[in-house]
Amino acid sequence: MRVEERLYTLRYKRDEKPHLEIKDQQTCNKCHETYKSPCITVCPANVYSFAEGKIIVSYENCLECGACKIVCPFNNIIWRYPRYGLGISLRYG
Ligand code: SF4
Ligand code: SF4
Repeated sequence: MRVEERLYTLRYKRDEKPHLEIKDQQTCNKCHETYKSPCITVCPANVYSFAEGKIIVSYENCLECGACKIVCPFNNIIWRYPRYGLGISLRYG
């Protein structure tokens, strides 16, 4: 099964409070120049993008895999799980 097909088996309940936050945008700008923003490359859900000179975080699409936190060379992401009952869940049947 392809990743795109697997994504259809997930159900999202949006948490109004972002569970992912950037600590410091200037650090991201430095990272983008030096390391080409590994968070963008590693995220399977295209949560991160670089536009208008800054990193945009579309946290609503997050699959909660934790990869971005691991690859960020500056530990610049505040990463929490969404609040209880929110975020992704598997859809059965
Ligand atoms: Fe910012 Fe970390 Fe992404 Fe680099 S990897 S752009 S420092 S969040
Ligand atoms: Fe993307 Fe995974 Fe990070 Fe969510 S936890 S933003 S899916 S890399």
